[in-house]
Amino acid sequence: MLIDHLQAKLDTIAAQDLTRFLRVAQSPTAAKQLVRGADGVTRELLMFCSNDYLGLAAEPRLGAALAEGAQVYGGGSGASHLISGHSIAHEQLEQRLAAWFAPHIPQARVLGFSTGYMANLAVITALGDSEAEIFSDALNHASLIDGCRLAKAQARRYAHADLAELRAQLQASTARLKLIVSDAVFSMDGDIAPLPDLLGLAEEFDAWLIVDDAHGFGVLGERGRGALEHFQLRSERLIVVGTLGKAAGLAGAFVAAHDTVIQYLLQAARTYIFTTASPPAVAHALQTSLDLIEGEAGAQRRASLIDLQARLRNGVARLLSSHPQLGWRLAASETPVQPLIVGGNAEVMRLAALLEDQGLRVPGIRPPTVPKGEARLRITLCATHTVADVDRLLATLETAIQ
Ligand SMILES: *Cc1c(COP(=O)(O)O)cnc(C)c1O
Repeated sequence: MLIDHLQAKLDTIAAQDLTRFLRVAQSPTAAKQLVRGADGVTRELLMFCSNDYLGLAAEPRLGAALAEGAQVYGGGSGASHLISGHSIAHEQLEQRLAAWFAPHIPQARVLGFSTGYMANLAVITALGDSEAEIFSDALNHASLIDGCRLAKAQARRYAHADLAELRAQLQASTARLKLIVSDAVFSMDGDIAPLPDLLGLAEEFDAWLIVDDAHGFGVLGERGRGALEHFQLRSERLIVVGTLGKAAGLAGAFVAAHDTVIQYLLQAARTYIFTTASPPAVAHALQTSLDLIEGEAGAQRRASLIDLQARLRNGVARLLSSHPQLGWRLAASETPVQPLIVGGNAEVMRLAALLEDQGLRVPGIRPPTVPKGEARLRITLCATHTVADVDRLLATLETAIQ
């Protein structure tokens, strides 16, 4: 009976072409990877799907740093941060990141988290108390949406990047505490939020601006410090959540904010307090990630990404202009996230399957992750892709259309 109930739900999901399934990677995260598919067959695939934008996940210096961390600190942290799990490796990482954010946030302090999901829940639920009101972009990441659901505050959505609607909502609000929440780079669209304008509204209406920089950290800004460096922003209203499992190539996350905000999170954020601290070896190795991001390697890889993006965009634009009947469009994105919006769920999954048959893994993204009727291929670029890799994607897309 219970099983039948769930089976009926699974059947409904399948009937809408919405079933998700796992693949099993059998080699390190990289542009080319050995992957066992749902059919049980292992193939080498050219991956246009990871968030490892700088190609650091398989970087030998990072692996060596992790091994060194394990030698020094052993395995697990053994407890939550506030009990006994907070090691000197965590503290050093936090202090280093705080220095990165000092130009952007007065009295900047950083708190480390196990995942970005937890960090977002922490900030929104801790600050979004019953006296607060939250204003959230309609395309924000699921973890921000879940934060809004869990928070005691009333939460409102404004249409994607719609400053006029946000302004009207802020104007109408009588809440004592206002929180504007936005992805910095929208994860399924690749566009960059109008952060200077959002900060302007935050100043005007005395609000906090919470920026989720999951896809900007490491990628945006001259030294890879993310969206705040990209826009040269500075304010004590800024609260930034960064993840360390994407461009930083490892795992974990952090919140950067004014010292008082961090002190409060330490007292009030349940997803910080009631979870085991990440292994100190990971925090130790993240120092190497930061070295790579801000050093010559990072600068070169960010430059390669920009070249690859231009090549991909030009190629797709040419393809679409010769096939206007398809009704597909390339999202307006200046980041390594380059979605090709196809429309229907079945159509996008057919296209993704066709590409996979040809040895390319480009995930189809369907509702509810994206709006209905806007299913898309989420193409992501990685600095370790070659020009030939991008050309192969373009050529394969071309044959898939014919
Ligand atoms: C991936 C992602 C997160 C979650 O970060 P994890 O460290 O993977 O938990 C949060 N926000 C956005 C926009 C993301 O893309």
